[in-house]
Amino acid sequence: MNLAFKEPATPARSLDSIAEALLLPTGIDGVYARTAMFEQVVGGLMTLISRHCEPDAEVLRFPPVMSRRQVEKSGYLKSFPHFLGCVCCLGGTEAEVNAAADRSDNGGDWTSALAAADLVLSPAACYPVYPLVASRGAVPAKGLTFDVACDCFRREPSKMLDRLQSFRMREYVRIGTPEQVDEFRRAWMTKAQGIANQLALPWQIDNASDPFFGRGGKLMAMSQVEQALKFELLVPIRSADQPTACMSFNYHRDHFGTAWSLRTERGEVAHTGCVAFGIDRLALAMFATHGIDLPHWPVAVRRALSL
Ligand code: ATP
Ligand code: ZN
Ligand code: MG
Repeated sequence: MNLAFKEPATPARSLDSIAEALLLPTGIDGVYARTAMFEQVVGGLMTLISRHCEPDAEVLRFPPVMSRRQVEKSGYLKSFPHFLGCVCCLGGTEAEVNAAADRSDNGGDWTSALAAADLVLSPAACYPVYPLVASRGAVPAKGLTFDVACDCFRREPSKMLDRLQSFRMREYVRIGTPEQVDEFRRAWMTKAQGIANQLALPWQIDNASDPFFGRGGKLMAMSQVEQALKFELLVPIRSADQPTACMSFNYHRDHFGTAWSLRTERGEVAHTGCVAFGIDRLALAMFATHGIDLPHWPVAVRRALSL
């Protein structure tokens, strides 16, 4: 179901032709060095999104790693085990660490000595919020809103510049009653269209599902679509036929509330939802649409990005 549609469009520039001005290869698919020009637009996008911030939102900037235990408890391994990156380190005695490191000198395999640490690479910006809120007690009657961001990792290597292994995500997260979360998500689906228009991006909003793992995942994805739990704002980046999700609007129902025993003041399980901005994808969308000649971008777009 196509829910909203701004205008049909083909990306004005092929990404390959502008890649070297934006993202430089590091030798690993989906991991790039970002140029100053790219970062200028990233900075503008972050500021623009902040301008639409919810009045009472608590701002938190998370590091790119988080507690392995928290990710396990959130159910991530049931839904997306294929994406998760776990931090592994050398441990043991000095002699054991030296022996492993020496093996690498001799072209041997030092990685067999690694042991999983208590950290994973954060797969999304909102995961650390729920345990943090749980540690503070009941959710107040007016609910809670957070403004969060972090560098995310997902093990989905690709040659496509819009599918990275390491990318930045900004999110607004709402925690409260089902009505509060629903209202928040509806409002954001409208605000997001306004932001895309300010940026003069062609967009469409569609029903979506998460990329759940395996055969069981297909059923989960179907149920997610049936319940309209996820929408995406898509922009043509690599092609008009396969537009890329640059923002998502997610209703988790009581998933995190149950996992973390989040309660409202009335004692009911809290519901949660989030709006996520794929910052690197949005920046790419800007270059694919407007080219790499920043001074010649439409004046209103430059103003929106404080460029
Ligand atoms: P997709 O539909 O492309 O697989 P997703 O549905 O898994 O993405 P979410 O989990 O909703 O994405 O993540 C929020 C946002 O983060 C996405 O809308 C997108 O803009 C961005 N994002 C997700 N995965 C990637 C990736 N591999 N590279 C760059 N940005 C990404
Ligand atoms: Zn989220
Ligand atoms: Mg998706």
